[in-house]
Amino acid sequence: MRLPPLLAEARFCAVVGFPVTHSKSPFIHRCFAEQRGLALQYERIEVAPGMLAEALHTLRTAGCRGVNVTLPHKEVAAALAKAPCLRVQRTGAANTLWWDEAGDLNADNTDGRGLCRDLSSWGIALQGARILMLGAGGAAVGVIPDLLEAGPAAIEVWNRTAERARALCARFQESGAHVRALDTETPLTHPFDLVINATAAGVQGTAPPIPAGALGPATACYDMFYGAGPTPFVDACKRAGVSRCRDGLGMLVEQAAVSFERWHGWLPDTAPVLAALRPTRSL
Ligand code: NAP
Repeated sequence: MRLPPLLAEARFCAVVGFPVTHSKSPFIHRCFAEQRGLALQYERIEVAPGMLAEALHTLRTAGCRGVNVTLPHKEVAAALAKAPCLRVQRTGAANTLWWDEAGDLNADNTDGRGLCRDLSSWGIALQGARILMLGAGGAAVGVIPDLLEAGPAAIEVWNRTAERARALCARFQESGAHVRALDTETPLTHPFDLVINATAAGVQGTAPPIPAGALGPATACYDMFYGAGPTPFVDACKRAGVSRCRDGLGMLVEQAAVSFERWHGWLPDTAPVLAALRPTRSL
């Protein structure tokens, strides 16, 4: 791993992943730093699978203050942390790392708060809501603790590979009936209040199958995936008659804001950054 030349007068932070060239995190964190008048050097650093521990050592030695972690390192990051927060312990995935005064590696997962903050800014009430989660990968498991904190009536999980949905629900067993695998044998009698797409189908340019009866005119549909225009999932929901749809760009900016607060002790204003990322779109 090669580090770029470091500026003596700036705080150094980074995002590591493989690949990482697509990451919008440098732009987002630089916008936040400008709001605060903070000199920040935030770099994308490509770290090959299996090389995270070594990369973190190099970053720490170079004086790095905070590290965002993206695919495929989130699980390894959680395992390497000496002081993982409860969220990371429950989900086994971390996207935000920093070192404390004792030099111990701390870890958090800010995706769930990012999602909840974006849902809240969209006017979605989670308390008492019936939520359908499509997908049972890292993104789905990572946001469930924060969704549960908001007090939904239930989170039902559907996944292409049903066994993985059952395994995800087993992780949250202590919350009783609140997280359960969707029973696909019994027809749905009521549409969900909120349907979240946490599958990677959008990356492949498709929408996941949406269980029959899940959508109604009052359902809100949220796609964690985002792109230059409406996502395949948003298009599919609109075709099914849903009018309230949103993609995951706001979640991306909101989770970055929570990471920024972790490292620099100040929560930035996300609205202007989101507006800069999609000046002409209505999603
Ligand atoms: P992951 O761990 O690889 O999990 C992928 C999930 O998608 C699995 O449940 C998989 O089902 C399912 N899947 C893949 N292709 C599918 C298809 N064609 N149809 C139906 N299901 C399919 O990935 P992840 O980290 O959870 O990421 C999932 C999505 O969340 C990605 O689009 C990512 O960009 C997005 N995300 C967004 C943010 C944000 O800030 N907006 C943050 C994190 C993640 P199987 O188990 O059957 O393979």
